[in-house]
Formats: sequence, C-alpha cells, structure tokens
Amino acid sequence: MLTSKLEYVREFESGNKLPNFNWIVVRIDGWHFHKFAEAHRFEKPNDARALNLMNACAACMLENFPDILFAYGDSDEYSFIWREKTNFCGRMESQILSQSVSLFTSAYVMKWKEFFPTQDLIYPPAFDGRVICYPKIKLVRDYLNWRQADCHINNQFNTCFWALVKSGKSKSQAQKFLQGTQTAEKNRLLKEFGIDYGDLPAMFRKGSCVYEDKSSAEIDEQKDPKCRNVVIDHSDIIGNEFWNQHSYILSDD
Ligand code: ATP
Ligand code: ATP
Ligand code: MG
Ligand code: MG
Repeated sequence: MLTSKLEYVREFESGNKLPNFNWIVVRIDGWHFHKFAEAHRFEKPNDARALNLMNACAACMLENFPDILFAYGDSDEYSFIWREKTNFCGRMESQILSQSVSLFTSAYVMKWKEFFPTQDLIYPPAFDGRVICYPKIKLVRDYLNWRQADCHINNQFNTCFWALVKSGKSKSQAQKFLQGTQTAEKNRLLKEFGIDYGDLPAMFRKGSCVYEDKSSAEIDEQKDPKCRNVVIDHSDIIGNEFWNQHSYILSDD
C-alpha cells in the first residue's frame, strides 16, 4: 500500500510531552493589542468591554476544558492553570497550547458583538501562547502573585499616564514625567486629578479570576453534572485569604 510506504514521514514530527507531576500553566497574550486597541477604539486606560470579553472567553475555556482549575487575567492576557495530573492530549505541549489558543481566539471573535454592539471587528485578532511547567504548588502561587502584582503596577502607571495625556500633555511628556516615580508619588498625582486609586473598579486594579464555584453550588437534578458552575471575580490572590476560602481549587483530587 502506498500509504504504509509513506508513513515514515511521520517520524519527522517532533512532539514534546510535558513532564508528569507538574502543574501546567498556559499563558495567552493578545498579539499587537496596542494597535488592536487603537483600531477598535478601546477606552483608555481601561476598556471594561474588552476586559469583560476576555473574561467571557476565559469562562468558555473552563467550560470546555474540565482540567483547567483556575484562570487569571488582565489587559490582553490570561493564564490558565491545568490540573497537575491532567492527561489532556497525553500532555503533548503543542496540542494543549494550540487547542487553548485557538478556542480562546474563536470565542473572542464569536462573542465580540455581545460586548461591542456598536463597534465592528475590523480585522481578525490573534493571540500568542506559551506553556510553563511548575513542579511545586508554591511556584504556581508565586506565578499568580507575579501576574497580579504586574497588573497593579501597569494599571497604576497607565492610570497616571492617561490622566496626564487627558490633561493636555503629549504622550512623550507624560512618559518622561512618570519616569522613576514611586507608588506614593503616583498616588499623589492621581489625587491632584481627583482620582482615588482605591476607588477604581476592582477589575482594573486586581484583574480577574475565573474558577468553578463548588462552595455555593446548589444540587440541581435537572443540571448536567458535567456542567461547571464557573464564576468570575476580582479577588486579591496574593494574600492567603482567597486560597483558604477556596482550598478545593488547587487541591487536584
Ligand atoms: P505583544 O504582541 O508583544 O503582546 P502588545 O501590543 O499586545 O504586543 P502588550 O504588552 O501585550 O503589548 O500590551 C497590551 C496593550 O493592549 C496595552 O498596552 C493596551 O494598550 C492594550 N489593551 C489591552 N487590553 C486593553 C483594555 N481592556 N483597555 C485598554 N487597552 C487595552
Ligand atoms: P481529533 O480531535 O482527534 O482531530 P476529529 O473528530 O477531528 O478528532 P479527525 O481524524 O481529525 O477526527 O477527522 C475529522 C472528522 O471530521 C472526519 O472523520 C469527518 O467525520 C469530519 N469532517 C471533517 N471535514 C469534513 C467534511 N468536509 N465533510 C464531512 N465530514 C467532515
Ligand atoms: Mg499583547
Ligand atoms: Mg499583554
């Protein structure tokens, strides 16, 4: 048979199986979203419609991939924590990554109109993705802490930057003005513009968490038991309180 003669070309495929007993993190990030945000008239510094769209795509990921335990996102990025013991796609990196990025992207396009009813999608958005393996849960917690701290730093900077720009400064003047400033100085500057940083929406300051709520799930016999009760909130995940209250999320039983 011709096909069996040609099967040898398969041997050139290089697959990468992710190591067992590792937590798998997939991080997706919008490709050139600086430009995409401008082209689609995102409000600055934070367009709530765009953030809610990202959150809806992350919820869609949890609904479709039962082995995703937790997701955290802000701006144009989302991180997905997969069960330590997942055997999804036989733990093949390229398949986990490509399925994650393609489902997220198609959900983004499909849900666009729901969040941007008055703005057409004028060109196809793309996301890049990467996979990181962590052999210890402490590393996963530190990874999430890092992303939430980054959200805070970027949001504080962007809030100052756009307050300066909206007050008449050019973008390069605003950039120069903020160079080397510390948190306290930035907060003082925001006060001068009548902005109390702590009063900004938690979604802007803390980013968003997506997970299955098992604590308040009512037993509904009509409901498909495979259907997950996915919730979105803007918790502080750097402290222990959230994890103490939701210890089941990363328990991976
Ligand atoms: P890369 O392809 O390297 O990721 P990028 O242009 O996407 O490049 P990022 O560092 O990922 O750069 O930053 C994303 C940019 O997208 C932000 O700087 C911001 O301009 C814009 N952006 C994303 N989401 C929002 C939002 N919800 N509201 C306003 N602007 C946003
Ligand atoms: P996997 O996720 O493992 O790829 P799969 O269901 O996509 O599973 P494939 O081996 O990729 O399996 O086969 C694709 C299947 O999709 C075909 O068996 C066929 O049933 C269906 N299919 C794809 N394209 C067409 C088409 N143009 N017309 C009819 N059926 C199609
Ligand atoms: Mg980006
Ligand atoms: Mg980004």
